[in-house]
Amino acid sequence: MVGVVGSSPIAPTILYISELGALRPALPVPGKLPEPFGLKPAGTTACGSDKQVAFGSGHHWRKLVPVVTLPDGSQRSFDHPVTVFDVAADIGPGLAKAALAGKVDGRLVDTSYCIDSDAELAIVTNKDDDALELIRHDAAHVMAQAVQELYPGTQVTIGPAIENGFYYDFAREQPFTPEDLLKIEKRMQEIVKRDLPLQREVWSRDEAMKTFGDLGESYKVEIINDIIPEGEELSIYRQGEWFDVCRGPHLPSTGKLPKAFKLMSVAGAYWRGDSRNPMLQRIYGTAWRNKDELKAYLHRLEEAEKRDHRKLGKAMNLFHTQEEAPGMVFWHDKGWRIYLQVQDYIRDKLRDHGYQEVHTPSVIDRSLWEKSGHWEKFHDDMFTTESEKRTFAIKPMNCPAHIQIYNQGLKSYRDLPLRLAEFGSCHRNEPSGTLHGLMRVRGFVQDDAHIFCSEAQILDEVSDFIDLLFEVYRDFGFEEVIIKLSTRPEQRVGEDALWDRAEKALEDALNHKQLDWQLQPGEGAFYGPKIEFSLKDCLERVWQLGTIQLDFSMPARLGATYIAEDGSKQVPVMLHRAILGSLERFIGILIEHYAGALPTWLAPDQAVVMDITDKQAEYAKKVEETLKNQGVRVKSDLRNEKIGFKIREHTIQRVPYLLVVGDREAESDTVAVRTRSGKDLGSLSLQALSEGLTAEIASRGRTVLEN
Ligand SMILES: [Zn+2]
Ligand SMILES: [Zn+2]
Repeated sequence: MVGVVGSSPIAPTILYISELGALRPALPVPGKLPEPFGLKPAGTTACGSDKQVAFGSGHHWRKLVPVVTLPDGSQRSFDHPVTVFDVAADIGPGLAKAALAGKVDGRLVDTSYCIDSDAELAIVTNKDDDALELIRHDAAHVMAQAVQELYPGTQVTIGPAIENGFYYDFAREQPFTPEDLLKIEKRMQEIVKRDLPLQREVWSRDEAMKTFGDLGESYKVEIINDIIPEGEELSIYRQGEWFDVCRGPHLPSTGKLPKAFKLMSVAGAYWRGDSRNPMLQRIYGTAWRNKDELKAYLHRLEEAEKRDHRKLGKAMNLFHTQEEAPGMVFWHDKGWRIYLQVQDYIRDKLRDHGYQEVHTPSVIDRSLWEKSGHWEKFHDDMFTTESEKRTFAIKPMNCPAHIQIYNQGLKSYRDLPLRLAEFGSCHRNEPSGTLHGLMRVRGFVQDDAHIFCSEAQILDEVSDFIDLLFEVYRDFGFEEVIIKLSTRPEQRVGEDALWDRAEKALEDALNHKQLDWQLQPGEGAFYGPKIEFSLKDCLERVWQLGTIQLDFSMPARLGATYIAEDGSKQVPVMLHRAILGSLERFIGILIEHYAGALPTWLAPDQAVVMDITDKQAEYAKKVEETLKNQGVRVKSDLRNEKIGFKIREHTIQRVPYLLVVGDREAESDTVAVRTRSGKDLGSLSLQALSEGLTAEIASRGRTVLEN
């Protein structure tokens, strides 16, 4: 480095250098500056010092290149291209040791990445969130190396970092066993200990195809041939003897991989996700920045396992699924009561917010899906059926059907906004391997609605929707909502001016409510921008549920119009929106979030009355009757069983209130109240109990009988 330049972010001084090595801080004469270096050493990992630009002749001053701006705003100037590692070393030996990667102008790169023009740089260490993805991707490479060392002849395919960890898909005849996973994990530890430097190399396509072909790695050859675009630099990452085709970036060496990883499971996975292709073996692992993070994650997994909605669904007799109907739910009496409760609740809310509830057919002629564009895009995901030589699709979504209702009769600006809601039963042909209880299904009901409005009404409609959504989430007990606004993608319909106004309307709606939100530039749909709402559950898992999407395309495609105030014919804007998404999935989330102990207003049975002996049977019935008349979902258990046994059984069923009546209670018109968490609330008069319970239900748990 030649000079540190001003640590103030406001007025950094850029240094200039003459070929004689003199420094000066002022701007040189314009036009006398040579172009920036622009030299990228190919095929090496370090900035080649022999390839640096020679100084020009004459007494020309040129800007010292590169100037590297650090996150605190301070700047460092160099007179030759530098690697991320060089800059870290220049700041201090501690940072050089800790550096795992760099972030250059927002892009994650290797520490060997060469900076040859002015750039913003953040050094990524084990303290940064960005390190996680690197660590996970590295773990995948280390695992693949371990597997190939232990099981020669195994072919490697792909191995990305994923949420919480990584996987790698292997082609091997023999299945991996749990013992194999332990062996592989041990070998991974050894590879970490070897501290092999990870080196990036750039190969020609032919060279790469030949090398991998000679090794018998036919999948890699296919990746190079089919997946990596022609003209893209083909990079190889090498660690010791082992190497892989990879975009990177990676840690500087295997020794930097924290020993906080664990192999979790093996599953079958089709090559390139296509069931016509060979089945590969996918080994999943988890990897973290330190042992504490790993421990916390494994604990969360354990908790999640205990809360698994499929397990609880069975224990609580709520629903089941079976092989004859993959991805479809058989709702049992108790589960269906939860379902109806959720549905009725949403129905009330819709009425309050000016929606009309409609219901549209499930089986609709292919021609409508062709007009709407769904056939072309999604027909592989649609179930179809035939009758009288016509092809029908089972609807995967409700939108085109709602436009059919809108199109009945002439509409004028006075009819807008028109809000059509449907508990729309939809079916999508999801791959069977991805199905998961209630969370990922083929048949589901959306709390779907479409708002037809004029452009001027977008802001109000979006604002009202956000209010509605927050009311709902809070009633279900979720406070933390993550909001993301996705704006125009490269490929889109509609004029830019329209996108400008629409994006601004969404942004304004969020800002007026003083909500925190994140921008996702370019992530909008081709037909319009959208907002997505995600919930965080008690295990810190994020679930995307709600959405509101503007659509400038479908109404015109399907011929929706209205007569504007000036008499002209206009196309309405269509807003697709959902709060819970799929009711099935939402109930799955509720069950896991509450570990089956649903808030009283949602519980299928809210209370159970138990007698101690037959003598109190009549009084128990009276208690049941009284509460029932107040709208409480209550039942009595008059079986000739020990009271302890009955309490245990209903506790397992997560019934919120366990009401015990003995002689004393029968004589004094009281009830001994216990909660499912084992709390003894003592004796309450029948009237106090009834009032407390109904207040708890009506307030959706904001007042609780317990207090
Ligand atoms: Zn890789
Ligand atoms: Zn829609």
